[in-house]
Amino acid sequence: MQYATIISTLEVMTIIYLDNAATTKIKPEVLDAMMPWLQEEYGNPSGKYGLGLRAKEAIENARNIVAYTLGCDTDEIYFTSGATEGNNFVVDGFPDVITSPIEHHSILNCTMNPVLCEVNKVGEVNIDSLKPRDVNTAFQMVSIMFANNEIGTIQPIEEIGKLCETKKWFFHTDATQAYGHIPINVKKLGVDFLTASAHKFHGPKGVGFIYINKDLENKIGCKKDPDSNFKISCGGQQERNVRAGTENVPGIVGLGVAASLMHQRMRDISRITAQNRNYLYGSLSNKVPEFHINGTADWRKRIPNNLNCRFDGIKGEELLAFLDAHDICVSSGSSCDSDSGEPSHVLKAIGLSDEEAESSLRFSVDETIKRNDIDFVVDVIKKGIESLKR
Ligand code: PMP
Repeated sequence: MQYATIISTLEVMTIIYLDNAATTKIKPEVLDAMMPWLQEEYGNPSGKYGLGLRAKEAIENARNIVAYTLGCDTDEIYFTSGATEGNNFVVDGFPDVITSPIEHHSILNCTMNPVLCEVNKVGEVNIDSLKPRDVNTAFQMVSIMFANNEIGTIQPIEEIGKLCETKKWFFHTDATQAYGHIPINVKKLGVDFLTASAHKFHGPKGVGFIYINKDLENKIGCKKDPDSNFKISCGGQQERNVRAGTENVPGIVGLGVAASLMHQRMRDISRITAQNRNYLYGSLSNKVPEFHINGTADWRKRIPNNLNCRFDGIKGEELLAFLDAHDICVSSGSSCDSDSGEPSHVLKAIGLSDEEAESSLRFSVDETIKRNDIDFVVDVIKKGIESLKR
């Protein structure tokens, strides 16, 4: 296709969205389910009359759905404002957290004394390097993300769970990029804490949840101090006294519906999403000589939507701007630190040079993207590289 033809085609086109790791489009069923709770059903769930009791029931329905999708009990789920809040809570209060250098900043920037493990060149955690700073630490927390938000690498969560079981360490996983996209059973995986955000699986923004294993006392083999019960925030008695503050009823309802929709169709959605990602990968490999993948090409070890790659001799930010001018949305790194101007800490941790990291882009597809849109994106990338090299 000629460049002029591409431009004229674009004028009548809508955006092509390839940034689903940053956020996803809310599903119409989710929005429909939320609307009554923003309008006529505006009761405070603490209210002891019909309007309040119905809101409370709606929250409990959503809690049941999330618990079912994770294979845990309903009273192990607490709603939050999103993964950031859950992650901050988990690492806050543990002096030494064993974690990885490729975690999200809501873990790395909030951990007093992180004990960083090793990751290999595709971002996989080296389990043997998960070691405490001090073997006498009373309660050791390990926090390893389920799947990385930049390069999509899925971690060996079950093996880490087994290690933590043996060592009697607490195990948290940030499942923000994985929940709703790949199957997760917290009990089988030996996970004690799991955090997620609804907007990463076609739910609304500003709402998420945390799973907390209610059997922690058994695991660590001693009774917790009764005054040290987990508290995400203090105030009212909402969320069984763990997370105070009036609940975000419409958000929680939307989260529940989005979780249910994703869970029911997960196999199909993941398969089609992975096919789309692989098609993009194949086209870039065949048509763009400057293209290199960042992270693993063993698709079993990568979440279905993610392709992170670099283009020799090109600044990712400039190619991003070129794509944006053609109404194509991609990311030059994690959306949360894209304003820092620093090369991605994840790409650096897997051994890329500053220059390689700065020439990188993250594409995150979904199941709805059309093949001809992917062809078009690849054409624009080729044109962009030609124009930026000039
Ligand atoms: N963890 C991971 C892995 C993420 O990708 C994100 C969002 N980019 C977060 C945590 C934070 O999520 P939120 O901004 O919804 O709190």
